[in-house]
Amino acid sequence: MLKLYNTLTKKVEEFIPIDPNEVKFYVCGPTVYDYFHIGNARSFIMADMVRRYLEYKGYKVKFVMNLTDVDDKIIKKSLEEKREAKDVSTDYINAFFEDITKLKIKKATVYPKATEHMHEMIDMIKKLVDKNYAYNIDGNVFYDVKRFSEYGKLSGKNTEELEVGARIDANEEKKDPLDFALWKKAKEGEPFWDSPWGKGRPGWHVECSAMSCKHLGETFDIHAGGNDLIFPHHENEIAQSEAANQKPFVKYWLHFGFLNINEEKMSKSLGNFFTARDVLKKYSAEAIRMFFAQAYYRGPLNFSDDLLTAAEKGLEKINNLVDKVNSEIKKNNSGIKPEFEFNSYYKKFEEAMDDDFNTSQAVAVIFDFVKDVNRVVAPLDNVDVSFYNDVKTFLTKTAENVLGIVDFNKTTTGDDKLTNDLIELLIRLRTEAKQNKNYQLSDSIRDRLKELGVILQDSKEGTTYKIGK
Ligand SMILES: [Zn+2]
Repeated sequence: MLKLYNTLTKKVEEFIPIDPNEVKFYVCGPTVYDYFHIGNARSFIMADMVRRYLEYKGYKVKFVMNLTDVDDKIIKKSLEEKREAKDVSTDYINAFFEDITKLKIKKATVYPKATEHMHEMIDMIKKLVDKNYAYNIDGNVFYDVKRFSEYGKLSGKNTEELEVGARIDANEEKKDPLDFALWKKAKEGEPFWDSPWGKGRPGWHVECSAMSCKHLGETFDIHAGGNDLIFPHHENEIAQSEAANQKPFVKYWLHFGFLNINEEKMSKSLGNFFTARDVLKKYSAEAIRMFFAQAYYRGPLNFSDDLLTAAEKGLEKINNLVDKVNSEIKKNNSGIKPEFEFNSYYKKFEEAMDDDFNTSQAVAVIFDFVKDVNRVVAPLDNVDVSFYNDVKTFLTKTAENVLGIVDFNKTTTGDDKLTNDLIELLIRLRTEAKQNKNYQLSDSIRDRLKELGVILQDSKEGTTYKIGK
């Protein structure tokens, strides 16, 4: 039985999806004005592990992640760089996809873009205005927070407390400092869309309410995001969606802890952040995922090279077995099949993950498994290939498909070291040929390797290769 901590009820609850056949899952995606930082990567990766575990359990998952492609930050960047806002967002959307692919994050079912859902957002704002939850002042539409009596139920904040310290900026016309913008009137030079309130653009919060409703329905199962989104973003999403639809918005709210650096929250505004892209230059996706998996998803986590190096070291133990399994399967030996309780490891893995996604315990189960497999085969001369097939199945289902810390296609066998060295040598010769503009030779190396089943993949970081397929 899967249990998870629900931020809304502040309790660990049994997970029961609304539709037993399909879990509907929404995660707040990036605002595409820059590369995302490793703190964001933590949220994306942990949401990915949750999603993959639901799939492991046999659920079909409709996974939606929005792309905020209209926003103050994008406009600011486009003015700084004297480019169209659209070009800025397109570049960073492409970069986002490159980075999540490298991090082995499974593609969402849908990536709705704000600019492609203007109609839905305007419709939702209209509903809120009609129901008196929102008011228009000279082309700016605000949500009337006091009208929504349950405001604060997610964050645990109450409106009186919030009122203290809140103030209205001189240039804002809203009635109450807690009210937030649903529609912003266009300023000179800004991108805009037509609406019943004049030219403008939507606020950020209404985006997620309108797009989740469109793709997942008025009430859905899981809404996830970083801790920093609980207030005001998710609180405001609830206020909008529940007022507009008069239905509960989300059943389970899942939030991921901050990634700290030197015990301080990592964030763009504090300037103490690393992009996921930079971290990927130093560490593999598997090591980064391992680092996150070894911490409880809700708690804070300190980012350090020591911890990432330790994660990498730990992975070596698993990868040594992966190498052995790959090579033994290739040999296809028949022999002794050792006694081994595979089921007990599946059970322990599931118990860990069912316990509010205790990924660090799940990793511990994998380590135990690796240690025990090594112990069992050590004294045997001839192990039957079927045993290694079972080992591979376990590691594929758990470490690879759920946690994403292992890649059976990537690691190489010790037996193949010479082959790898030769391929690497050919890649270097090809790169030199390219640098000397000898494209005939470089293409010929690529094509002839392909004939041998070695596929070269070029990227900005260099050339990698894949064998087979
Ligand atoms: Zn959101």
